[in-house]
Amino acid sequence: MRKRSFFGLSKPCFHYELATDAAAEPAVIPTPETVTLYIKQELKRTSNSLKVGTPVKTGQRLALNADDEICAISSVTGTVCAVAPFLADYGKAWTAVTIKTAAGDTPDTEFSEASLEPSLESLNRYLAACPGEPAITPLMDERNPVHTIVVYGGNADLLIDTSLYVLKHSAEALNAGIEVLRKATGIENIVIVVPEESVQNYSGHLDARIQPFPRQYPFAQPLMVLFNLTGRLPDEKGIAPMGVHFICAEAVATIGQAFSSGRLPVEKTVAVFDKNGTRHLARARVGTPVGVLLKTFGVEINDQDKIIFGGPMTGKAIYSEDLPIGPDTDAILVQDKSVIPLYSDYPCINCGDCVRICPANVPVNLLVRFLEAGQYTEGADLYDLYSCIECGLCSYVCVSRIPIYQYIKLAKYELGRTLSAEEMNEQ
Ligand code: SF4
Ligand code: SF4
Repeated sequence: MRKRSFFGLSKPCFHYELATDAAAEPAVIPTPETVTLYIKQELKRTSNSLKVGTPVKTGQRLALNADDEICAISSVTGTVCAVAPFLADYGKAWTAVTIKTAAGDTPDTEFSEASLEPSLESLNRYLAACPGEPAITPLMDERNPVHTIVVYGGNADLLIDTSLYVLKHSAEALNAGIEVLRKATGIENIVIVVPEESVQNYSGHLDARIQPFPRQYPFAQPLMVLFNLTGRLPDEKGIAPMGVHFICAEAVATIGQAFSSGRLPVEKTVAVFDKNGTRHLARARVGTPVGVLLKTFGVEINDQDKIIFGGPMTGKAIYSEDLPIGPDTDAILVQDKSVIPLYSDYPCINCGDCVRICPANVPVNLLVRFLEAGQYTEGADLYDLYSCIECGLCSYVCVSRIPIYQYIKLAKYELGRTLSAEEMNEQ
């Protein structure tokens, strides 16, 4: 339950990027020798569709079993050279499929027939693992009908402007995607959220209601956008019962491109920040190893340097340059070891900085004590866990370098998991 009223922003004050005319065209990254794609499903012995040596085409669905809904979309033509278990965030068990690429692309044609008549089933079957990774299953949930689709035109974290780049350069594909979504879902209320300074760039060009957000961080955080649209935040049941569904601009453009051309897009727009903070924009096949992008931009990785997927406030560190970019990777941030602020095991000194900075007025100094001890239910019931909009500002200012944001994410994940298990048991 959320207990406190929202909110009072205080310093420090950061601003989101605006996609400017100076933004360079993305560098097109050549097809790498191998790509690795994740199927968000545990690898079981019974999997019969994907074996080493299986030939695949560009745009082909890759599922562990032919009837499975969950799949990856092959971003290249080639041959499967490895199928292995992969441990994702929070211990989720996925399957990593590595494909050795062949020269040239042979497009898979299965989608072309489905593209003639947009439906939720075809969106879910073919588009859910495409660039931008649109979540389609919530739109099919009859217990929690969606009445508003929010097309997310900003990037939630600082520095990153890939969504704005897509908004600016792919208006036609976006409008086509919006039309497909309207047709497939029957939902008329589609809102595009953009920074308020750039509203005039999009008004009249995009076929949806434009909703501005202030450029000040963290107003583009999805939960903050949700609060500004509805006056509410989700509780432990998540966003589904609120009837609002978020899809990022790149995903909508992907949908538009796919249904206009009959082919599934396989390239992702990614911003790469080198150790000097210089931003490079790239277009790369989903599944391209991070190291390939870094090499293209001359970024050398040394021992103890840090590679982060996402932005400086809410991004997550990855452990190897060999890991691939996913359909939802908007940015890669590289930090030299000399500038990395280390987490510590210092205790909270009750300085109150986290409380003063929190835009949702969460009593963070008290909440963190419960979360550190794994007392998530108490943290939620007594200290407003569900008011948190996941901006990461508390971690940023914490003098004891406590990873508060990570504790909060873990707590919400664990509570959500417990609730799902209870609901399953009741059925
Ligand atoms: S991440 Fe921290 S600062 Fe941001 S809303 Fe949550 S508790 Fe407040
Ligand atoms: S900023 Fe860190 S040290 Fe200060 S009160 Fe918050 S958790 Fe404690």
